[in-house]
Amino acid sequence: MTSAVNSSVSPALSAVPGETPSVGLIGWRGMVGSVLINRMLEEGDFAHINPVFFSTSNAGGQAPSFEGVTPEETILQDAFDLDTLIKLPIIVTAQGGDYTSEVYPKLRQAGWDGIWIDAASTLRMAETSIIALDPINREVIDAGLAAGVKEFIGGNCTVSNMLMGLGGLFTHDLVEWGTAMTYQAASGGGAKHMRELLNQFGTLHSTVAEDLSDPAAAILDIDRAVLEAQRNDLDATQFGVPLAGSLIPWIDADLGNGVAKEEWKAGVETNKILGRGENLAPGVTSRGAAVPFDSLCVRVGALRSHSQALTLKLREDLPLAEIEQIIASGTEWSSFVPNEKDATVARLTPVAATGSLEIPVGRIRKLEMGPEYISAFTVGDQLLWGAAEPLRRMLLITVGKL
Ligand code: NAP
Repeated sequence: MTSAVNSSVSPALSAVPGETPSVGLIGWRGMVGSVLINRMLEEGDFAHINPVFFSTSNAGGQAPSFEGVTPEETILQDAFDLDTLIKLPIIVTAQGGDYTSEVYPKLRQAGWDGIWIDAASTLRMAETSIIALDPINREVIDAGLAAGVKEFIGGNCTVSNMLMGLGGLFTHDLVEWGTAMTYQAASGGGAKHMRELLNQFGTLHSTVAEDLSDPAAAILDIDRAVLEAQRNDLDATQFGVPLAGSLIPWIDADLGNGVAKEEWKAGVETNKILGRGENLAPGVTSRGAAVPFDSLCVRVGALRSHSQALTLKLREDLPLAEIEQIIASGTEWSSFVPNEKDATVARLTPVAATGSLEIPVGRIRKLEMGPEYISAFTVGDQLLWGAAEPLRRMLLITVGKL
């Protein structure tokens, strides 16, 4: 490997054919970043790049060391240092929206011409960007790359998981409209949110541990003590209100029109990924009118993996067996779960789905509203297909390895 951030590294990817490209990795120690690095290690992705590790909080500190990965820069680079960033042909960031908003415009203004691959939502709906989810929209990605698009953004986790599971119905243009009622895990907020939920569980348990160990203790006393602790004793710095033993029916910003930003993303991002509607990136021809898709998003006390219950109106009355077959073959990772109790409780839970790339889809049945209306329930590890996996695959596409 050559020195990753020396002045010989051109910012123009096309200017270094045949060379292993230097790739800036920002946000590698957060929730998404850690899962991203693990997946890159599992799949041997570091063989195709020269990694350069950055930090927003510990520049000059020791860069992480992973078996089989030997970056020449053993020191963490400053993630705000434009002079260093500008030398890189590719930057992958899972640092978050504030970082993207601060650094990305300055980098472009300074003339940077490289490829930006990002987990944050900041640039997703920009007319210059493509939301990358290649098992669903490889054609859109390829059209964008051919037209010179340089911003490839991972989609909202719930949207990407939904399309990885139910994408077959959308790509066959069978969905007239849809809704998703979500049950989203604490880790969707990041590392600190996950820690907060676990600490809340701990506080609640220790509040009533003595009574719990006594089978004769009155359950209503335990219930009262837990509620008291939930209302007064829990640290809720990250979520704002207690989550352990409760839920929060609002995710992300209040758009001021009764819609949570997470809910707005469901419709606009689903269509942008599919290449439908307007305002698509250069080179991407619209594949038809936008499909109305809306949701109501709820944070629940699951640790990892987002779940969602969907109602879909199909364009035609298809036999259930055909619907199931279309879902099962939608992507290599969709996995159909028969609509029976035992299979459902065994396979359609966050505990069952976490850590797996498979996206199980079940509870498929026709609804009372008519033969075109179906229900579905899907759950997927939002840190895999909902975040890290599309980024690492987009990186491989960029360097010609996928
Ligand atoms: P995160 O866990 O909060 O990490 C973001 C950054 O926080 C880290 O890179 C790290 O930066 C800093 N940090 C401060 N204290 C930390 C600690 N105790 N442990 C780890 N990192 C700490 O955020 P995230 O969930 O990975 O999200 C990153 C971006 O991905 C966001 O834009 C988010 O919206 C998006 N996203 C998240 C998910 C998800 O499920 N979490 C899914 C899809 C997309 P330094 O090392 O520079 O200090």
